[in-house]
Amino acid sequence: MEKKKIAIVGAGITGLVAGYRLLQQGHQVTIFEKEKELGGLLGSFKIEGESLEMAYHHIFKTDKYIIDLIEELGLFSKLKWFDGSTAIYYRDKIWPFNGPLDLLKFGPLNIVDKVRLGLVKIYLEKENTWQKFENVSAYQWMEKWCGKRAYEIIWEPLLKGKFANRYQDISMAWLWARIHTRGNSNEKGGEKLGYLMGGFGQIINELKKRIKKLNGKIILNHEFNPSKSPNDLGDFNKIISSAPLANVDYLGAVTAVFSSTQNLSKYYWHNINDTKSPFVTLIQHTNLVPSTEYRGKHVYYLGTYLPQDHKYFKIDDKIIFKENFTYLKKIFPEFDKKQISEKKIFRFKTAQHIVTKKYKTPLGSAASPLDRGDKPKVINVNFANIYPEDRGINLAVREGEKSASYLDGLTSG
Ligand SMILES: Cc1cc2nc3c(=O)[nH]c(=O)nc-3n(C[C@H](O)[C@H](O)[C@H](O)COP(=O)(O)OP(=O)(O)OC[C@H]3O[C@@H](n4cnc5c(N)ncnc54)[C@H](O)[C@@H]3O)c2cc1C
Repeated sequence: MEKKKIAIVGAGITGLVAGYRLLQQGHQVTIFEKEKELGGLLGSFKIEGESLEMAYHHIFKTDKYIIDLIEELGLFSKLKWFDGSTAIYYRDKIWPFNGPLDLLKFGPLNIVDKVRLGLVKIYLEKENTWQKFENVSAYQWMEKWCGKRAYEIIWEPLLKGKFANRYQDISMAWLWARIHTRGNSNEKGGEKLGYLMGGFGQIINELKKRIKKLNGKIILNHEFNPSKSPNDLGDFNKIISSAPLANVDYLGAVTAVFSSTQNLSKYYWHNINDTKSPFVTLIQHTNLVPSTEYRGKHVYYLGTYLPQDHKYFKIDDKIIFKENFTYLKKIFPEFDKKQISEKKIFRFKTAQHIVTKKYKTPLGSAASPLDRGDKPKVINVNFANIYPEDRGINLAVREGEKSASYLDGLTSG
């Protein structure tokens, strides 16, 4: 078979997986990354001497592609499964929210609301076709079937949390996929969440090592942009691009991560159901992964999705910390900034595609454009093509591999 020269745009997990597979198939690969580090949304940093994701990450038992990759890369013994506990912060109180029993005890809703919420969840888990939801707004559907109060207390904050000012535009197909996939990943005895001890960054490092070993090139600090720099096109036969798509709207995300001697909560994941909060998710990472991994300190993320022009992308880290910590103290009056040992802010400008009611993947197909069977020079594998499923590292591996085998299967350059 004819071997090709291939450029890959983006050294997130999708681009690295695509590059690695193509090198294994004998092609020549050059990967361009505009940042100074690899990893994209799965980038890492060090806290308490340990590598940690800049954005909170875990996987599910049904995440076959990433689990297989972890095994292939020799990291399987580090993959550990934990009980993930969830809670909702609503009107000055933290409510556990892990299953039917917690729902029954959830004070802000009456029994009719609870029954409706429970039935909607069961229905969405059982319903196997998403197409019927494609042109329906998630917020209208949820309000109609769960009832106004249950919608306003539970679903609206979640939609706002994930899609900020665009929450009313979101398709019910996206929400169906979230609930359907999650529901079907539940095992007997509760859902297990997977974490790679030592950090998911090890996947990125191992891919880098193998890419180098196969003589693949990785060029950092290089924004691939043929319309500005025609030389970028070089003599590449094909380009696989994991970069954002021009005709898709994205939201950014900001995380404030810190370690502290204080153990604030019993739960791992907290949805903050109050629009006044500057963060929508509070994660006590060390309620999933033992704090012994982080010199005995507790590690927290305060996370939020925001429009790309939000002030948090411009202002000083100090202001973000100040606003976040002021609200955190409202939730936990005992919270004491002085007990924090390390802290960091991370900004992701392109974190989530906005899955609108009329969302179609940008090439007009509901599946990945790679399924179209045509042979464009540029193959787009940006996560915006993942629909109606939610993007995540499992599907990133799937898309990276699919693009590589599609390209390898082409006979002409
Ligand atoms: C807050 C948050 C929490 C998350 N939690 C989870 C989780 O718990 N579990 C899970 O499975 N997933 C989670 N995800 C999603 C997961 O991180 C992503 O789906 C995955 O990392 C996407 O990988 P990617 O390679 O497709 O895209 P990206 O990571 O975005 O990589 C694209 C790369 O391309 C580079 N690039 C862009 N344009 C150019 C250009 N012109 N030239 C050169 N380089 C370019 C970018 O700098 C970037 O490095 C989370 C994401 C966020 C933001």
